[in-house]
Amino acid sequence: MDAMTPQSLPAERYGAFLWVRRGVPLALAAAFLFMAFLMPHGFGWWALAAMAMAAMAWPTFKRGEAYLKARRAIIRWDGMWVGLFRPLARLLGQEDVWILSFCGWNNHRVREAFLGARSRRSLILMPHCVQLAKCKAPILEELEKCYDCGLCPVGDYMHGVLEHQWESRITNRSHKAYREAREYRPDLIVAVSCTDRLLKGLIKLPEVPAYVIPLTLPHGMCVDTQFSVPHLFAAMQQLAEPKLGPRPVEGQGSMSAA
Ligand code: SF4
Repeated sequence: MDAMTPQSLPAERYGAFLWVRRGVPLALAAAFLFMAFLMPHGFGWWALAAMAMAAMAWPTFKRGEAYLKARRAIIRWDGMWVGLFRPLARLLGQEDVWILSFCGWNNHRVREAFLGARSRRSLILMPHCVQLAKCKAPILEELEKCYDCGLCPVGDYMHGVLEHQWESRITNRSHKAYREAREYRPDLIVAVSCTDRLLKGLIKLPEVPAYVIPLTLPHGMCVDTQFSVPHLFAAMQQLAEPKLGPRPVEGQGSMSAA
């Protein structure tokens, strides 16, 4: 399948995060309730603790519009749980799996929220490290300056962006990407980055729903990184409203200019 062929979004893998994020507080709530009936003299305190644990699990059940409205608080709580269990995941050699599981859970809920009512103002954030390190094309200035040589994913990405008139930014610093996103004020971000930056981005911009796609790093961090262009296109085509009308072809002018 070539990069321009639309495909369906892959299934999200979020079991590990959900089991911990929802399972731990619910298990504690059940244990505290059990203690409340076991020790009637302290019933009130145990019941209160059980209710607090149930309240902690409650946001994981929010869906659609309710999820979007509460997203800022939900991401803060989820981020805390990621941080809490991250040292253990690191110890087990599963740090990336743990973070990607959280990203998958985030994607799952963003998909649920946007499949019914697609985004009207979406923004793609792309890291500069997807450009071949030795390539001199000044794509940071303008994406269209890519020569489309086929040696990195930027050429295919550029074709998709131009054809569909998607709003996109390529940046070489995370803080610039956050600034671009705050200035543009999208209602959906589709972001490509390494695992650690995806986590930071989700926590830094909790107010904007973001569908995130991890990079693969065949040459190490920040050098000639790769991502699935069809995955990105599928996300945009399924979560964002298409722009009206085809992009005017250069040199033909527009109706209003005639
Ligand atoms: S596709 Fe080719 S010209 Fe475009 S950024 Fe990649 S290496 Fe450079």
